Amino acid sequence: MSQIYDRVALIGLGLIASSMFWAIKRAGLAGEVTGFARSEATRDTARRIGLCDRVCDTLQDTVDGADLVVLCVPVGAMGAVAQEIAPVLKPGATVSDVGSVKRHVIEAVSPHIPEGVHFIPAHPLAGTEHSGPESGFAELFDNRWSLLVPVEGSDPDAIARLRALWEGMGSNVDEMDADHHDLVLAVTSHAPHLIAYTMVGVADDLRRVTDTEVIKYSAAGFRDFTRIAASDPTMWRDVFLTNKDATLEILGRFTEELFALQRAIRTGDGEQLFDYFTRTRAIRRGIIDAGQDTDAPDFGRGKTSI
Ligand code: NAP
Repeated sequence: MSQIYDRVALIGLGLIASSMFWAIKRAGLAGEVTGFARSEATRDTARRIGLCDRVCDTLQDTVDGADLVVLCVPVGAMGAVAQEIAPVLKPGATVSDVGSVKRHVIEAVSPHIPEGVHFIPAHPLAGTEHSGPESGFAELFDNRWSLLVPVEGSDPDAIARLRALWEGMGSNVDEMDADHHDLVLAVTSHAPHLIAYTMVGVADDLRRVTDTEVIKYSAAGFRDFTRIAASDPTMWRDVFLTNKDATLEILGRFTEELFALQRAIRTGDGEQLFDYFTRTRAIRRGIIDAGQDTDAPDFGRGKTSI
């Protein structure tokens, strides 16, 4: 793979940025990668583990001269970061992001993008429940989807270049409209996370009653919930605050279905339960056939699971 950008700046050095760095290096996609995190502790860790060619102490130094700037901070922090870097953005540069919600990021970041700078939002559909500069790995995006969400009038060449970067990092790439993205992600990621958080909370309340049994005999289903519910609290707070409408819409539908199943259990309607579970089992088969998960026992546990 050949070099796509001379200089890439990664803002925020957590799971996604660190995985991007290792994936960029693996394929030689950039001449130099600079990085910035707001805390000195994270910057020190990054320097210690060789994360980024150059870790800078200010946002301005990080972005200065960059051809591509990727905002890898929680969704709620994107607007403030964009405002701060705006004066130093190089004409012709591209600003992108990796936020889990797109409409909010577009509204928060677009007003700060200067004339002559391209803004192309993006979202890699890959992650783990781990966070921070030491959690990243080069293979995170391999064979996973990354969505580009170009805003109106985006430059086709700038889009093609960003697409090439994500493909070079191992991703399959698609383009999607922001509102559609937010609805799809509410179904596939945001609502499931809230359900996992809730289930673990319920079990925790119960644990106080049953002592340690919930943990001791924790079955696979519950363990999956605890893994998802261990995800970063800041990131997920921001996701729900900024993808409010779509998440509430999906949770409304979820609650209706839950009540229907609850009623089937109460009335002993085995046929309804069986038919429902048969339908959902087929969906699992479809996900495996599409290469988005593995049929291995325990889901081939490990790297890319959210
Ligand atoms: P992370 O591991 O928690 O790292 C977040 C980074 O952002 C840290 O370097 C942190 O700096 C910095 N940061 C936090 N708040 C900030 C603020 N107010 N101003 C400036 N910098 C700030 O996060 P991540 O999992 O990589 O997620 C980053 C973005 O990717 C989020 O927008 C998230 O929605 C999106 N995303 C996440 C996943 C996932 O599974 N984790 C998947 C796809 C997309 P310090 O370390 O100095 O605090």
